[in-house]
Amino acid sequence: MLRLPGDPARPASTVTHSGSAGDGAWSYVGWIQWVGAALYAVAAMQATVPSSMGRWRDVLYLLIAAPSVWALVRASRRRGMPAANAHAWRFLALSAALWFAGDVLRIAEGWRAAGVPIHGGYDIAFLAFYPFAMHAVACFPGLGGSQTDRWRLQLDAFIASLMVAAVFAWHWPVPQQTGGSGPWLMRLVHMANPVGDLMLLTSIMVLRSRQKDAGSRHLLRTVVLALCAKTLADMLHAYSVIDDTAMLNGITGFVWLAFYNLMTLSAVRGHRVVTADRVNVQRLVPLTWLPYASVMLTGSLLLIAVFGDNVSAARWMAVVTIVLSLAVLLRQGLAAYEDRRRDQVAAVGAAEGRLAALVRHSHDLVIVIDAEGTMRYVSPSIERILGMGAEQLHGQSIHGLVHPDDFETARAALARVLESKEEAEHYITRVQHGAGGWRHLETVATNRLDTDSITGIVLNLRDVTERRELEGQLHWQAFHDPLTKLANRMLFSDRVAHALARRQRHGHDLGVLFIDLDRFKTVNDTLGHHAGDDLLKEAARRIVQEVRAADTVARLGGDEFAVLLEEASAEHCQQTAQRLLDQLTRAFSLDGREVFSGASIGLAMAEPGATLEEIVSDADVAMYAAKAEGRGRVVTFERNMREHATDRLALEADLRRALDRNELTVVYQPQVDLRNGDILGAEALVRWNHPTRGLIPPSRFVPIAEQAGLMVAMSRFVLRTATREAAQWRQADIDGQVIHVAVNLSGRHVQDASLLHDVREALADSLLDPSLLTVEITESVMMHNTSEAVAVLSELKALGIKVAVDDFGTGYSSLSYLQQFPVDVLKIEKRFIDTLGAAEGDHALTRAILSLGDALGLATVAEGIETPRQLTELRRMGCLLGQGFLLSHPLPGRVFAELLQSDRVQQTFEQFGTPLPGLQLA
Ligand code: C2E
Ligand code: MG
Ligand code: MG
Repeated sequence: MLRLPGDPARPASTVTHSGSAGDGAWSYVGWIQWVGAALYAVAAMQATVPSSMGRWRDVLYLLIAAPSVWALVRASRRRGMPAANAHAWRFLALSAALWFAGDVLRIAEGWRAAGVPIHGGYDIAFLAFYPFAMHAVACFPGLGGSQTDRWRLQLDAFIASLMVAAVFAWHWPVPQQTGGSGPWLMRLVHMANPVGDLMLLTSIMVLRSRQKDAGSRHLLRTVVLALCAKTLADMLHAYSVIDDTAMLNGITGFVWLAFYNLMTLSAVRGHRVVTADRVNVQRLVPLTWLPYASVMLTGSLLLIAVFGDNVSAARWMAVVTIVLSLAVLLRQGLAAYEDRRRDQVAAVGAAEGRLAALVRHSHDLVIVIDAEGTMRYVSPSIERILGMGAEQLHGQSIHGLVHPDDFETARAALARVLESKEEAEHYITRVQHGAGGWRHLETVATNRLDTDSITGIVLNLRDVTERRELEGQLHWQAFHDPLTKLANRMLFSDRVAHALARRQRHGHDLGVLFIDLDRFKTVNDTLGHHAGDDLLKEAARRIVQEVRAADTVARLGGDEFAVLLEEASAEHCQQTAQRLLDQLTRAFSLDGREVFSGASIGLAMAEPGATLEEIVSDADVAMYAAKAEGRGRVVTFERNMREHATDRLALEADLRRALDRNELTVVYQPQVDLRNGDILGAEALVRWNHPTRGLIPPSRFVPIAEQAGLMVAMSRFVLRTATREAAQWRQADIDGQVIHVAVNLSGRHVQDASLLHDVREALADSLLDPSLLTVEITESVMMHNTSEAVAVLSELKALGIKVAVDDFGTGYSSLSYLQQFPVDVLKIEKRFIDTLGAAEGDHALTRAILSLGDALGLATVAEGIETPRQLTELRRMGCLLGQGFLLSHPLPGRVFAELLQSDRVQQTFEQFGTPLPGLQLA
C-alpha cells in the first residue's frame, strides 16, 4: 500500500537469521578448539620443552586458532542477513584474520630467530586488528538514531577509550629489553596491544550501553568476553616480556586461544541474533557527561605530570588532552548540527502529519490509483461511506466497484485525467456499497503521477446519494401527478411533441384522447375529497390497464386525463376510447358505496404537419363536444368542431357585456296544481338574448358564466327581476290568486357573502311578500360547506322565504341532510318523470320520493312533464304540483301575466288531465 507521510509505520519486522545446515557441526568445532586449547596449555607449561616439541606446540596453536577466522567469514555470508550485519561480520572476520596473520608471522619469526621475539614487523598486523574490530563493533545494528547520532556516539567511545588508555599508560612499566628501535617507539609498541584492547573494550561498553536491540547486545556480550580474554592475554604477554617469565607463556597462549574460541562461539551464535531491519526512530541520547569527565581527568593527569616535573609524561598527557578537547569540540559541532537537522525534520514531519491527518479524517473519501486503475491508497472514510475496509480494497481495480452503466463514464474520465496533468475531472458514478445497493459518488480526479510523494491519480469522492435522490424526486414531481403517479401536462406535452416529430419521419398514425369524468364534481362535493381522490386513482388505474405499455397516460388536472396512442390507427384509437369509456362507466366502489361516474372522451388523430397545440386543442374540443352531446360518449374530432371551441371563447367575451347591455331576460315556467290545473306559481329561468345569435339556452351559457365568475351577478339579476315581476302579478291582483315565484340559486351565490343582502334588497325593492319567494338549490349545495349553507338558508327561512331542492335524486346526498336543512319543497328530477308510463318497476323511485316528501312534510314538484301519460301517472300517485312543456313552456313575464288571466292551462289540463277512475280531485 502506498504510505502517506505520517501514517503509522509498519511494525519493524524482525528477522531471525537461521543458521545454515553446517552450524551444528561448527559447535563441535568450538568444543574441539577448547580441548585443543587445554592440551596446548598443558604442553606449554612443561618448562623444558625441546625445540622440536615447541614447534609442534606452535603448529597446534595455529590449528586451533584458524577455524575461528573461517567461522567469522561464514557468519558474514549468511543468507537473508541485513547488509549492516553482513558488513559487521565481514570486518570482524577481517580483524580476526589480521590477528591470526600476526600470530603466524610472530611464530615464524620465533622459528627463524630460534627464540621468543619481543617485537617485530608482525606488530603491524596486530595493531591493524584494532581499527577493523572497532569499526565492526560500531557497525552492528541496533544503535538507532541518525547517522550523526551514531558518529557522536562513536566519538564518545573514542574519547572514553583514549582517557582509559591515558590512565593505563600512566602506570605502565617499560620493558627492560631494548629492540632495534629507540625507547619511545619501543615503549609505544609495547603498550599498544593492552592499550588498544582497553580502548576497544571501553568503546564496546559505551556502544553496548546505547544498543537498543537485544539481539545485537546478546551477540556483543560474547565478543566482549573474547576481547576480555584477549586483553588479559596481551597484558600477561606484556608482563612476561618485562619479567621474562617463560611460565606465563603457556597461560598466555591458552588465553589467546580462548579469545579465538570465543570468537568462534560468537560466529556460531550469530544465527540466533534477532535484528531489527528498520532504523529505530527513537532519538539516541549519547552519554553527555562522559567526554567532559574524560577531558577533566586527562587534564588533571597533565597537571600532576607538570608539577611533578615528569616531562615525558607531561608531554604525552598534553597531546592526549589536546586530542580529547578536539574530539569534544567536534562532538559539540555534531550535536549542534544534529539539533538543527532534527528541528527541520520535525517541522516537515508536523506539516506532513497534519496533511495525512486531514486526509485520514476527511469527510470525503480519498483514493489513490495507479495508471491502470489499481487502488494504491484508500482513506479510512471508506468504512463510513461504502461500508468496506480500506485493506480489503488495496490492490484491487477501482473499475470493479463502479456500476456497469457508469463504467464508461468513469473509464473515459480517467482516460482524460491521464492525458491532462493540469485539469481535474469531475464526474458522478454509482459505486457499490459493502452492504449491497449503490451510492452516488461525486468524484474529482487529479493526475499526480509526477508528484514523488504520491505517484498516482488522486480521487476525491463525496457521497451525493441523498442529493441525487432528492433531485430525482424533484425531477419526478416536475413531470408527474403525485396523486395518480401518472405523467403530468408537461411530460405529456413533451411526449406528444416527440411523437409528432417521429411521425414526421416515419409517418405512423397517432391519436390523443382527452377524458373528463362526468360526475367527479358531484362525488367530490357529496362524498368528500377523500372519495374524490380515490375515484381519480381508480380511474387512472383503469385507464392504464386498458392501454398498451408504450402509450402515455397523463392527468392534466382536476378530473381530466389524456392518453397518447402512438403508432395507432384511427380504428385502434376509437376502440381504445370505447373500452376506456366502458371501464369508466362501470361502478366505482368508494368507502363501501357504489358510485357511477361515467366519462366524456374526445379523440383527435394527428393530421399531417399537426403541431402539439393543434392536436391537444382538437382533443379538448372533441371532449367538450362529447359533454355537450350529453356526456358518457366518445366523440372523434372533426374540423367544424374547432369553430365551436372558438365560439365558446367569443361567447364568454359577449357574456361579460350581456349584463350591462340588458341582453339577459327572465322567463317563467308555470307550476301547476295537478289536481285542477290552477297556476300556483312559476319558476324563473334565465335566458340570453344574444344580439346576433338569438336566444341562447342556460345549458350553454350558465357553465361559461360559472367559469368566468359571472354567476353571482347573473343570479342577482334574476333575483331582482323575478321578485319585481312577481310583485307586479300580485299588485295586478289577478283573479285574487297568490302566485309564488321560484328562483334558481347557483352554488356560488349561496357561498357568496352577498346573498342575504341581495335577497333582502330584492324583497325590499319589489315589496314582494317573502312568503311568495322560493329559492331552488341543488343537492351539491347541501353537501358543500354544510354548516355554512344551513346557516345561510336558515336566515332566508327566517325572512319567510321557502327553500326547494332542485333535481332531487341526482346527487348522492344522504337523506339525513334533508332533516338538517330547512327545506320546504322537493323537485323531482325530470329523469324520473321521463320513465313514468314505461314499465311498472320504473315508478318505484318517484313513488318513494313522493312518500318521502309526505313523511317529511315537504311539498313535491314534478319537473319536465311532457306527456299526458306522465301527467296521469303523477296524478295517480298523488303528486300535487308539476311543471313541464305539456302544461306550458317557460314564458316571458308579460306573457306569463297574460297566461294567469287566461284559462289556457286549465284547458290544456282538462284536455289531457282527465281524471282517472277512482282518483279523487279536489
Ligand atoms: P332547472 O332549474 O331544473 O329548470 C328546469 C329546466 O327544465 C328548464 O330548462 C326548463 O326549460 C326545462 N323544462 C321544463 N319543462 C320541461 C319539459 O317538459 N321538457 C324538457 N325537456 N325540459 C323542460 P332551462 O331553462 O334550459 O334551464 C336549465 C337549467 O339551467 C335549469 O334547470 C337550472 O338549473 C339552470 N338555470 C336556468 N335559469 C337559471 C337561473 O336563473 N339561475 C341559475 N342559477 N340557474 C338557472
Ligand atoms: Mg330549477
Ligand atoms: Mg330542475
